Amino acid sequence: MYDLKAVRADFPILSRSIYKKYPLIYLDNGATTQKPRCVVDAMTEEYYNVNANVHRGVHFLSQQATELHEGSRETVRKFINARSIGEIVFTRGTTESINLVASCYGEACMKEGDEVIISEMEHHSNIVSWQLLQARRRIRLRVIPIDDEGHLRMDEYERLFTPRTRMVSVAHVSNVLGTVNPVKEIVSIAHAHGVPVLIDGAQSTPHFSVDVQTIDCDFYAFSGHKIYGPTGIGVLYGKEEWLDRIPPYMGGGEMIQNVSFEKTTFNELPFKFEAGTPDYVASTGLARALDYVSSLGMDQIEAHERNLTTYAMQQMAAIPGMRIFGPSECHDAVISFLVGNIHHLDMGTLLDRLGIAVRTGHHCAEPLMHRLGIEGTVRASFGLYNTREEVDALVQGIDRVRQMFL
Ligand code: PMP
Repeated sequence: MYDLKAVRADFPILSRSIYKKYPLIYLDNGATTQKPRCVVDAMTEEYYNVNANVHRGVHFLSQQATELHEGSRETVRKFINARSIGEIVFTRGTTESINLVASCYGEACMKEGDEVIISEMEHHSNIVSWQLLQARRRIRLRVIPIDDEGHLRMDEYERLFTPRTRMVSVAHVSNVLGTVNPVKEIVSIAHAHGVPVLIDGAQSTPHFSVDVQTIDCDFYAFSGHKIYGPTGIGVLYGKEEWLDRIPPYMGGGEMIQNVSFEKTTFNELPFKFEAGTPDYVASTGLARALDYVSSLGMDQIEAHERNLTTYAMQQMAAIPGMRIFGPSECHDAVISFLVGNIHHLDMGTLLDRLGIAVRTGHHCAEPLMHRLGIEGTVRASFGLYNTREEVDALVQGIDRVRQMFL
């Protein structure tokens, strides 16, 4: 059974009270999640008792730190079911992972006039990375539109392929609409055209179990801080055949095999993509976070959050003037909304005064805002520790703000 009380006790910050209201009601998990004590403890323990630079040391501490770091890589591999640890590259987060692919794949496999398919619901990380390549290589971006409910138009997707299509790069889950995209189908259609696929998993990995072999994607990116791990670390999964084919991202440190002024050869996977001292303490924290969610059970977390989201959507829909964005089915733990003419910033600020943390604005998805014809939304996003009582407080809070604006 999912013991919510015990789970909440693992997160010290959740007993903090804000403005002397309730204990903190934290509904900004889409931006970042809170950290369980075990994650912070594992990192503190490493700094106090193990700390040494990894990989290059013969001494005891360096070897112990290396074992921890490489053990963390194996934990990540298992978590997403990659074939080998060579396919797990540590980065600073989803953004860096996508930039790495756009830059290195773009360098090796794209030339002027080639095309990348993205979607209308992408986060800026999955738009701007490709635009930077566009500026260097004069490639073209082709955009999958969404329907009025917030689903990808799969019929339009199929029509976007041309002989110049070189990559499809889409989010697994929208950070605004909560739409869970049919990534398996997206990949199989792309593969039928001989095109690889990158999936932005920033908003999926914290909420349900992900198996990269089942999806059969070529690249998969996610961030540690959104899955109860530390900031500053993330993952790029890449199929070995692709990681072997594309050049390194940055030079220096661990990514070389031999260096001379005439010629440098690169290290084996995944080290070819990990220049400089890695954040080996953050990798320990990330592995601890993945162990933590695995011990609760990703399926249990998914069921709990689905219940909560469905409950919240039902309660919120009863508020006069409420407009919820995104699909009614297949909706992940993110609810974007507006009420009447109340500005999202006003709603967010007043909810904050009630001790409820939500996010407001364009959520780094300005093109999606344009499609929806709005400037921004209020976004409540749930994590494994949120409760029905918190949803009730949110709904009461929204209604109170609404009445202030009548
Ligand atoms: N993609 C999506 C869908 C996201 O929600 C986010 C974070 N808001 C990112 C990418 C970027 O993640 P990070 O800032 O951790 O690199």
